[in-house]
Amino acid sequence: MEKTLNIEEIISKIDKGEVSLSKLEEHLGNANLAVLARRVYLEKKTGVSMPSIASTIIDFEEVYGRNIENAIGAVQIPVGIVGPLRVDGEYASGEFYVPLATTEGALIASVNRGVKAITLSGGAKTRVLKDGMTRAPLIWTPSVEEALRFIEWTKSNIEAFKAKVSEATRHGSLIDVQPFIVGNLVWLRLVYKTGDAMGMNMATLASDKICSYIESSYDGPARCISLSGNMCTDKKPAIINRLLGRGKYVIAEAVVRENIVENILKAKPELIHYINITKNLLGSAVAGSNSFNAHYANIIAAIFIATGQDAAQVVESSMGFTWTELRDRDLYISVTLPSLEVGTIGGGTRLPAQREALRLLGVEGGGNPPGVNALKFAEIIAATVLAGELNLLAALASGHLARAHEKFGRGVVRVKR
Ligand code: NAP
Repeated sequence: MEKTLNIEEIISKIDKGEVSLSKLEEHLGNANLAVLARRVYLEKKTGVSMPSIASTIIDFEEVYGRNIENAIGAVQIPVGIVGPLRVDGEYASGEFYVPLATTEGALIASVNRGVKAITLSGGAKTRVLKDGMTRAPLIWTPSVEEALRFIEWTKSNIEAFKAKVSEATRHGSLIDVQPFIVGNLVWLRLVYKTGDAMGMNMATLASDKICSYIESSYDGPARCISLSGNMCTDKKPAIINRLLGRGKYVIAEAVVRENIVENILKAKPELIHYINITKNLLGSAVAGSNSFNAHYANIIAAIFIATGQDAAQVVESSMGFTWTELRDRDLYISVTLPSLEVGTIGGGTRLPAQREALRLLGVEGGGNPPGVNALKFAEIIAATVLAGELNLLAALASGHLARAHEKFGRGVVRVKR
């Protein structure tokens, strides 16, 4: 049997170029040891000591081959909470404490004030309008005529596509095929229900099965030239996601009473409404923005990091529209997020701290029936985004924004000793 190497031996072999830094797990037979050896080697080579990156509760035996390669440790990000946030949704009902991981001073204090105003007003009403993760393979055909014939063929093969998907996954199912043609090229935007998973791996594996079926069963010239044809659209801002939806298409709304706007948010409903129209709608239009809101990305990024979502999907998950109306003297406010990509199982949700954050929200792991945890999670996120929008608009309306950042973001507030 081959002898297992110790750290000193392996570092000397890396130095001599006999062992690759990225293959230490195989040589040492233990992922935690490999992380240690890689870091020690790097410290020696660069002269940079990394005791903070070394300090982690993550068991790399659990995450190697699933969440990370070439690992040297972990970084920590502070987590705060906002709440209690009252949500009255189809899946989320009750009061929630929502964990946000951020290094932006003032963010949590800001969202928390919006949370208080919404909860005192009876809570946020939430609804998920659509639920579907997409992958859009790009298919080559020789002509537009063949492209049209191919699309007709796909329509009569939906059941066969569904059968192929069931070979790849138990929780994933094909719910729609959205075809697009440019010249001789076809994109099949395949839409899947993915249970409680965000679903990107699931949708990719299922789409691969469909592509193989197309190439083996279509009686004309059609080739799958890229499993992703960018009409999906993953991790890029795209109007297709905003229009057709990707992940959860979710809305949260509230009517905030005038006295709460004035006493908690220190602003006037009509000024908040005016700033929403001029800033979020007109300003975004003038700027050519893809997104008509004040700062969805702040809340989305902080929740994504705290709960182990794919952080790169903040790009499309934070697209959306904030809408306000005056209802007598009260303020109606809603947020619409057409492309919120979230899961409570799979990906980074299996890491220990992230699991605790999901548990705090009552959405850890698979739901019963499958899918309800992710839908509940999406509603809680939308309600938190609503609170963030409400407060930022109020802070702008009352001129408090710069002062809050000076107070919380510049170290003016300190714990008294
Ligand atoms: P995943 O961890 O790859 O898949 C979810 C797993 O959980 C499946 O094995 C599924 O089994 C199982 N499962 C058990 N109970 C479930 C339930 N109640 N609902 C849903 N699934 C359940 O996760 P994913 O969401 O598909 O993919 C997320 C990962 O993809 C993230 O790490 C992300 O960074 C990465 N990603 C990949 C791509 C890509 O192109 N591949 C793109 C972007 C991001 P069954 O499948 O048998 O149902």
